[in-house]
Amino acid sequence: MACKTEIKEKKRGPLAVIECTEDIPCNPCTTCCAQKAITFEGSINSLPKLDEDKCTGCGICVARCPGMAIFVVDREYSETECLVSFPHEFLPMPQAGEEIVASDRQGKPVCAGTVHRVVRPESFDGTAVVTIKIPKEYADQVRGIRTERGV
Ligand code: SF4
Ligand code: SF4
Repeated sequence: MACKTEIKEKKRGPLAVIECTEDIPCNPCTTCCAQKAITFEGSINSLPKLDEDKCTGCGICVARCPGMAIFVVDREYSETECLVSFPHEFLPMPQAGEEIVASDRQGKPVCAGTVHRVVRPESFDGTAVVTIKIPKEYADQVRGIRTERGV
């Protein structure tokens, strides 16, 4: 399967990171973004491309992507920490302030972290987006959590 991956360096503040592995027609990432920040070059099977200047880091595409392939990363949260946001579909739902083990996309533990916030607005179609705070050197590795409750 072709890998449609786009990881770009952050300018400032939260920014979408697209790590898409779908090579089938799929476009919720483009249709949900009010900023028109995600487009395809060529056909719908092409690599989703992010315009960093347009992205506000709102996270709607994180919730709407059926492949769970979009994240929001704020690399400049503090001198030592970054924020990583991802969709979370398991129960029990993590809570803000909870200590967690951050994992990579394969579920392998990467580092310790803290739940920064959990949001589930109507605009996210019921999908919860969890944001965690981790050491910034892991910004490109961490894409989920393994809670101490084993979720
Ligand atoms: S985070 Fe928001 S503004 Fe950025 S690409 Fe996704 S939907 Fe668009
Ligand atoms: S919605 Fe998700 S899976 Fe579909 S093309 Fe966009 S990034 Fe890939």
